[in-house]
Amino acid sequence: MRDLVIVGGGPAGLAAAIYGGRAMRKPLVIAGGAAGGQLTTVREIENYPGFPDGITGPELAGLLQRQAERFGAELMTDMVTGVDFGASPFRLQTEYSGDVEARAVIIATGTSKRKLGVPGEEEFIGRGVSYCATCDAFFYRGKTVAVVGGGNSALQEALELTRYAEKVYVIHRRSMMRAETLLVERALSHPKIEVLWQRIVDRIEGDQTVRALRLCEPSGRQDEAELPVDGVFVYVGTTPNTEFLRGGIEMDARGHLAVDGFGRTSVPGVFAAGDCRKDVQEQVVIAAGSGAVAAMAAQEYLDIQEGHAPPQRECRLPSEAPASGGQ
Ligand code: NAP
Repeated sequence: MRDLVIVGGGPAGLAAAIYGGRAMRKPLVIAGGAAGGQLTTVREIENYPGFPDGITGPELAGLLQRQAERFGAELMTDMVTGVDFGASPFRLQTEYSGDVEARAVIIATGTSKRKLGVPGEEEFIGRGVSYCATCDAFFYRGKTVAVVGGGNSALQEALELTRYAEKVYVIHRRSMMRAETLLVERALSHPKIEVLWQRIVDRIEGDQTVRALRLCEPSGRQDEAELPVDGVFVYVGTTPNTEFLRGGIEMDARGHLAVDGFGRTSVPGVFAAGDCRKDVQEQVVIAAGSGAVAAMAAQEYLDIQEGHAPPQRECRLPSEAPASGGQ
């Protein structure tokens, strides 16, 4: 049995592992397919404090992993497929390594890219439909591609694609971008990027590979226009990786976990950090900070269990907070 198991090996999970390790809890990190989480697919991070010239995602992931291991964390690449939070100790089922028991758990499973859900999308995944420009941009040298979305991911990856592609269309459903101003300015002023405003993808067409997109206005399916492209990169938001927790813990309809200010979930002894939480800004620095917060709360919880703890601070889940405006 472990004192502390951390599910997820992205910046939130690895930061939690550094803090849990320094608290002498020898945390086990069940890191999914590879340590680093979404960092492994990010070419450059420009806004992580301490790196004035930027740092690549894999580099940052490697540094975080090394730091966690230095303090006694153990990393395991496996997937948690189910949990029993009614058991004491908690029990986690994994895909390949059997059951793992833990006295405290931190969930830091992050998010996955959302799909567009249009005809042709599933059919052409890996043959022109991609969710990772950093991974696939190289295959589009001198070609024409489209990026769907108007958030930070869409514009960051559109800019990445300009290193290879001849032409990059950005297809956005509104007349205003959600992305930060710096990225919008860079994208709009880039000679290879053309934004197609107030357009959505109705379907993706091709034969062996993607050949064209059918675009229309968001208000209806009229005025369909064909846009010939060799590839399409989809960045229309994210979905939390919390399906394996359903039923056992409080979450919203989309699966984001409810936590208080210390990362405590609705199950005492289970904490959450990073992008899988409700109402968070998905930023690497915020994920890492929340991992530290959750690990400190987990340490406090374990101390209490062992009978030598300071009194806990008062902090409630949003759903438990008294209604505002009362006497
Ligand atoms: P996001 O910020 O949620 O943006 C999703 C975009 O997709 C929005 O522009 C949205 O349009 C559009 N969209 C959603 N559903 C659509 C549909 N069915 N068809 C067409 N367009 C659709 O998601 P994200 O860009 O993946 O970013 C996720 C999080 O990571 C964000 O919090 C972001 O700030 C963060 N992030 C930060 C950085 C950075 O700091 N450099 C880089 C990458 C990501 P509307 O605007 O009309 O809703």
